[in-house]
Amino acid sequence: MATYTQTEAYFKKIASASNRVSLVDMGLTEEGRTQYMLVVSSPGNLKKINRYKEIAQKLARAESLTDQQANELVAEGKAVVWIDGGLHATETVGTHQLIETLWQLVSRNDPETLRILDEVIVLLVHANPDGQELVSNWYMSNPDTLKRSYSQLPGLYQKYVGHDNNRDFYMMNMKETQNISNQLYHEWMPQVIYNHHQAGPAGSVVAGPPYRDPFNYLFNPLVITGIDALGASMINRLIAEGKPGYTERGGSAFSTWYNGGLRTTAYFHNMIGLLTEIIGNPTPSSVPFVPARLLPSGNTPYPVMPQKWNFKKSIDYSISLNYAVLDYAARNREHLLYNIYFMGKSSINAGNQDSWTISSKRIDAINNISKLDQRRSRGSDTVGVSSRERSDTIQLKYFKVLFKDSTLRDPRGYILPSNQPDFPTAVKFVNSMIQSGIRVSKATTSFSVDGKICEAGSFIVKTNQAFRPFVLDMFEPQDHPNDFLYPGGPPVKPYDIAGWTPAFSMGIEFKRVLHDFKGPFEVLPYGQIQSPQGKFDGSASGSGYVLDSRCDQSFVAVNELLQSSLAVYRFTNETGSGVRAGEGSFYIPAGNKAKIILERASRELGLSVGSVTKRPSHLSARLAPLRIALWDTYGGSISSGWMRWILEKHQFQFKTIYAQEINEGNLQKKYDVILFVSGAIPSLSDPEQRPSRDTTKITDIPKEFRYQWGKITADTSIVSLKKFIEAGGTVATIGKSTNLAYHLKLGVTNSLVEMNKGKEIPLSSDKFFIPGSLLRLRIDSTLSAAWGMGAYADVFFDSSPVFSLTPDAVSKGLIKPIAWYDSVQPLRSGWAFGQEYLFNGVAAFEAKVGKGKLSAFGPEITFRGQTYGTFKLLFNDFYSGY
Ligand SMILES: [Zn+2]
Repeated sequence: MATYTQTEAYFKKIASASNRVSLVDMGLTEEGRTQYMLVVSSPGNLKKINRYKEIAQKLARAESLTDQQANELVAEGKAVVWIDGGLHATETVGTHQLIETLWQLVSRNDPETLRILDEVIVLLVHANPDGQELVSNWYMSNPDTLKRSYSQLPGLYQKYVGHDNNRDFYMMNMKETQNISNQLYHEWMPQVIYNHHQAGPAGSVVAGPPYRDPFNYLFNPLVITGIDALGASMINRLIAEGKPGYTERGGSAFSTWYNGGLRTTAYFHNMIGLLTEIIGNPTPSSVPFVPARLLPSGNTPYPVMPQKWNFKKSIDYSISLNYAVLDYAARNREHLLYNIYFMGKSSINAGNQDSWTISSKRIDAINNISKLDQRRSRGSDTVGVSSRERSDTIQLKYFKVLFKDSTLRDPRGYILPSNQPDFPTAVKFVNSMIQSGIRVSKATTSFSVDGKICEAGSFIVKTNQAFRPFVLDMFEPQDHPNDFLYPGGPPVKPYDIAGWTPAFSMGIEFKRVLHDFKGPFEVLPYGQIQSPQGKFDGSASGSGYVLDSRCDQSFVAVNELLQSSLAVYRFTNETGSGVRAGEGSFYIPAGNKAKIILERASRELGLSVGSVTKRPSHLSARLAPLRIALWDTYGGSISSGWMRWILEKHQFQFKTIYAQEINEGNLQKKYDVILFVSGAIPSLSDPEQRPSRDTTKITDIPKEFRYQWGKITADTSIVSLKKFIEAGGTVATIGKSTNLAYHLKLGVTNSLVEMNKGKEIPLSSDKFFIPGSLLRLRIDSTLSAAWGMGAYADVFFDSSPVFSLTPDAVSKGLIKPIAWYDSVQPLRSGWAFGQEYLFNGVAAFEAKVGKGKLSAFGPEITFRGQTYGTFKLLFNDFYSGY
């Protein structure tokens, strides 16, 4: 296996030797390597490369072009096809097919290759340099060539987030995501994006396009039919070359629903995104015998027989698939270029007029209205007859409910007011959109819409732009259909999450405008990153400064102040001080050093720093930063990696802690807070978390990593954690790690249960099923644990734990609920079947245990570094003094 160091040298060598290649530096990775893209085309095309890029951009944005002008650009332009490799570094076919594809494109002179080079600009992109370096070095380090493996890697193959590097594409947290999106949505706007992965389902060689439903109702249909066309060309070529084993649609789990993957974010930009998942390792493997896969079907027209499989076969398949895509692009250059223009133009038109988007809830609603009317008119005798037994056709008069109800129109645009409490987070949201190629405007003066005044500096995102589906997806709920294997059967798990709406999970304020609107709006240049304008109230002849607890970035400034040994307090009675800020806001006594830090914070973090003339009467004790430990495990937990990134970004100092150190005990000497993300604390029923098949022992891994080995166990680790809390420590648990509450026998039970033959059993998935979705929570923001939060928050729920308090726990007052579900319909975005079971369930609580406490957050309050709206729930645990 080639390392990245070797691959980079090879890229440079080819680029210097071939007149078909131009090497592009895309930017640095999180570990500081250079990420490269190779632009491959005919020497003639490369001479006019900037012109072709300009044409690709103009057609994709479709702005102020007539059809005539578009057709002229189509005639002149070249198809642009993106092929990447190595995003998931242990999927080693990815990088190695990229290296081989480069070689074939620069060295072959057959008519097909020459035609491709003439008609297509090929972008060969290395998706994850850091990962390749780690994985290849690890694999090659074993001198026994037959025992080489890339299992038991010592760390994540992306510095912070490993496999989740393919879940970051609407949020843009990671540098590699930013580099890639810059090429996709600012520089090149390829019509086709091919993202290589592995592995396909057992008994296949490769899973590829087209994909199973549900597809996202925001897409232009040409995206879906474009996937069909490319998919047909890929499978055709394999079959014609005698390469069996391609499976499509229902043959694999991949759908097009989710935004946020490298391939799928492309759909929301009118680009045809392709993903393949192929088998194969440098260590020879085999195609197993799966009888059900041997029957040819629409999913798998040409099944593969069980056989030995070596790496070369996977590379050959990948080259065939790449050539199928490139050949299609060469032969259909005009169609691809025209279609992306057509999709962009359709988006602009839809955003310039009243438009309605149909999702499954609207269809259900209209069927229900019609059913109700029928029952009324026919009397009670039809009650109980299911709709399935009748015709699906209903009277045309109901059609107007779908397409004439003006309150159900798609917004023409969104306004993000600049006077919202956490404006810097709103700007972070705006920047994610800007990085994704969205056109954003800014108000130069105040203006009013629908009778509401918006201040200067507010941002405006209109929907009359080519990438309209992306805009709608960032602001609107995802309405995932009820997807069951058969009526009354078990739910079909979504390929990733079901609902994500960043505008909800980031807790920002925005206004939907359903009609055309104008104002003093300055259109920002594409790609121009925005910084919030902070305010510094330096008039403080008074006693001190105030930082608003509602603002996420306030915690960054507070951490800086504390690290400079300055005094910081929290308001314990906000109303008594006449300050307009959230509960538990921060008070900093006036002083020169504080002034310098806060002035800089207002400038660099966009914070509004207020001031008070008198020292407030209700203050906490002086805050002390706590000694924070973050759990992780050998190989790296992705959730812990995200947390590491969040803590670093907010300038919390912390140490990573592993099971062995926890087992050694005496934790209170070193730490004040220990933090467990999902996946750390085992359940009561599986207290040892026994690994299923892996037989790796601690002696099998290199000495320098052995201190990281081991898992949290009930008999040792949890005993040690109990002592830590009883001695005054705080343990904060998120998601499944709230299991700790059960181990400690606190007064809580699982609320998602029902009685069956006199016994409590957990609800089955055909009654209650909520895969990754956003739900609305009621929050007690008078508790210090929830300072800075509003009365409600949208929280990320991922089959998350929900609790009931025992009567004993309530009466003794040992457990305080921080947040709970106060509605029978808490769903905000995604899919929540049986959501009424959540009603009155406790989502988060804190419990006194000895001198310390346990904080338990059922929902994923820091999910993938995206849920800015709920980070504060955790941060409040990181200071002492209240
Ligand atoms: Zn993958």
